[in-house]
Amino acid sequence: MGNLGATELIIIVLIVLIFFGSKKIPELAAGLGKGMREFRKATRDIQEDQEESAAELKAPKTDTMACIYCNSRVAKDARFCPSCGKSLEAPRCSKCHRVNTLGAKFCVECGEKL
Ligand SMILES: [Zn+2]
Ligand SMILES: [Zn+2]
Repeated sequence: MGNLGATELIIIVLIVLIFFGSKKIPELAAGLGKGMREFRKATRDIQEDQEESAAELKAPKTDTMACIYCNSRVAKDARFCPSCGKSLEAPRCSKCHRVNTLGAKFCVECGEKL
């Protein structure tokens, strides 16, 4: 609280004077506090939106997964882990050509070492 500047207060009072006239001020004073809270909330929301979009620009959201070998974040469609250099493609058996699960050491079909 307390970062509402005097300038903002003057502007708000001026707006009230222009639109409602000085007679209405006591009436509106009660509602003003509420209005200012909403005004500040709106300002804060705008700032948050700007911060969010700035963060998104810095780090664009890409689908990532954890490397099964070193657990570092890699792109979901990456063929190799940039951290440990291991293949992230599902291994295909050289003997029966069955596509095995990622990280499998032996073919589930024929037992061939992958
Ligand atoms: Zn890795
Ligand atoms: Zn096989």
